[in-house]
Amino acid sequence: MNTAQKVLLTPGPLTTSKSVKEAMLIDMGTRDSEYQNLVQEVRQTLLQLANANEAVYTCVLLQGSGTYGVESVLTSVVKQNEKVLILSNGAYGERMEQICKAAKVPYDIASYSMLYQLPLSEIEAQIARKDITHVAYVHSETTAGVLNDIKSIQELIHRYQKISIVDAMSSFASLPMSLDELDVDYLITSANKCLHGVPGLALIYAKRSHLDQCEGICPSLSLDLYAQYQTMEKGNGSFRFTSPTHVLRALKQAIGELTESGGIAARYERYLMIQKRIREAMLKHGFETLVPYSDQSPVITTYLCKEGFVFSDFYDYFKDNDYLLYSGKLPQYDAFRIGNIGEISDADVDRFIKLLEAYFNEVK
Ligand SMILES: *Cc1c(COP(=O)(O)O)cnc(C)c1O
Repeated sequence: MNTAQKVLLTPGPLTTSKSVKEAMLIDMGTRDSEYQNLVQEVRQTLLQLANANEAVYTCVLLQGSGTYGVESVLTSVVKQNEKVLILSNGAYGERMEQICKAAKVPYDIASYSMLYQLPLSEIEAQIARKDITHVAYVHSETTAGVLNDIKSIQELIHRYQKISIVDAMSSFASLPMSLDELDVDYLITSANKCLHGVPGLALIYAKRSHLDQCEGICPSLSLDLYAQYQTMEKGNGSFRFTSPTHVLRALKQAIGELTESGGIAARYERYLMIQKRIREAMLKHGFETLVPYSDQSPVITTYLCKEGFVFSDFYDYFKDNDYLLYSGKLPQYDAFRIGNIGEISDADVDRFIKLLEAYFNEVK
């Protein structure tokens, strides 16, 4: 096995800094005040990063990957006499449907093209439906790399007074966002995407006034968001079950590095710059992007496989040179993806571009 550190050009988990990995070299006890203070500090910093008023919002941490967070919200806040509308334009919208099916959460789904933003003119009539109480959608659809218009969608949801549930897994910390302004009810993200932490923790922002009413809804014990929230609040940073202590330490370090490097606005600019450099190099070698530029998210780009191109050979070549690319996820397109988030240095991008030249000039 080649165990060299790889540059992960994927949507997460992604390349983390050495100092983030080093933060995990210390073991902590979960019932100790030092650890609980750390948890509270991280929760508070997360609220600040989201521009979320502490009196209005709470940030609940849940063990597991991002999907655990989405499943926790969908199963904990929609009652049996209510109905959540899923607005889907990708695999992660479809996953919300799978969650609702498995847990028998009342839902309906409206599906749209995966190549474009959710069409505002079409979704309004769906959101307006009398039987709908909650609306769930994905902000940055990682499937094709589409960024949905969260501001306009939130405005529609408010117009019809529904509860909003946003999967912001691959968008949170990729671009400036204010929960106070967007007035989102539930927003889910993860430690291992644009926050540049390690996998193992879902982060759930929730409006206290709504979550306070969600006792006893969740049919699952470990995914019960209300119970997790209560324990975390009353226990001053306690988790109900074993907490991923190392993941939390890494997250604290990652957030510190985010702030030191200029915060989310600077990270957004950096992502755009890396994405642009890679895209220009790819276009030079005859690739085409799948998603129109106006709908493109700043985290991952889908490229169509051109005539005679074999992605598995291309993947292996880059893997041998310590870069991991990402396969496509769209059933009807022969395509693959290149992510541009994580701790990617300018030198990593330079070398990627050189390898690309070498692949087409020498290898193929
Ligand atoms: C990564 C991601 C998730 C969560 O996936 P996990 O494999 O559970 O971490 C959910 N939604 C979107 C849009 C994502 O990009």
